[in-house]
Amino acid sequence: MKNPLLELLFLRATVQSSERVGVFRRMRLTAPGLRGAAWTPGQQVRLDAGPGNALAPTLRTYSVWSHEDDAIELYLLVHGDGPGSRWAEAAVAGTSVLMSKPKGDFVVRTGGSHLFIGEETASVAFGAMLRALPADQSAHVLVDVPDVDSQLPLARPVQWLVRGSRSAASSAEVLAAARALELPAEPGQAYLAGEARTIQSLRHHLVAERGWPRRSVHMKPFWTPGKRGME
Ligand SMILES: Cc1cc2nc3c(=O)[nH]c(=O)nc-3n(C[C@H](O)[C@H](O)[C@H](O)COP(=O)(O)OP(=O)(O)OC[C@H]3O[C@@H](n4cnc5c(N)ncnc54)[C@H](O)[C@@H]3O)c2cc1C
Repeated sequence: MKNPLLELLFLRATVQSSERVGVFRRMRLTAPGLRGAAWTPGQQVRLDAGPGNALAPTLRTYSVWSHEDDAIELYLLVHGDGPGSRWAEAAVAGTSVLMSKPKGDFVVRTGGSHLFIGEETASVAFGAMLRALPADQSAHVLVDVPDVDSQLPLARPVQWLVRGSRSAASSAEVLAAARALELPAEPGQAYLAGEARTIQSLRHHLVAERGWPRRSVHMKPFWTPGKRGME
């Protein structure tokens, strides 16, 4: 049964298409309420991956890859353990879902150079943010993926790490690759997203080892082992 309060707070979106891309489902959804809704690249929506009335325990967060008119595109990771993953796997054209409007503060900041580091889930937000970067601003992009099929089409050159069956959590390999990056002498703006412990170690590296100001390092934990529905 529809809950009128939820219908007020959320948009009712309909899946238009869903296709497998590497470890993701690439999904296009439409909702009349998306027309004219503000969206800054890097922002995300929350969708109710449960039966549609439980809300908080089954709300899951996904970055908006693109937004045009009444439609958005998302890439949802299928990892097998959790309502978001199960919903992504099961949803087909015509599936209805409650969804928030786009929001969030993980967006491109003013700066001359930009550094993006994260794994596959982060690459969805990075995709939108990189398309929004002014052409005269440089970007270093380091993304850890499980396999080459999961490399999303990003607008700037990317240093890909392909980890195979290695875990993305507390990743020593991503930290080592970040340490080896040749970055501009002046700190720019850094965007670290994805698994929480990996990005904590990356922030520590940038601040403690490279001397970047903390305020230039923007961190967004997306998930971590054992925690459900972060944010
Ligand atoms: C701002 C923001 C933007 C995000 N954007 C995206 C996006 O665009 N695409 C996307 O796929 N995800 C994105 N995420 C991550 C997504 O919200 C989480 O992965 C979420 O936990 C998935 O929900 P679930 O129900 O599948 O798993 P949960 O019920 O939350 O967790 C169940 C189990 O699965 C594990 N788990 C959760 N996520 C992962 C993962 N990525 N890899 C391995 N194990 C995992 C958990 O640690 C837990 O043990 C974003 C998160 C945030 C906060």
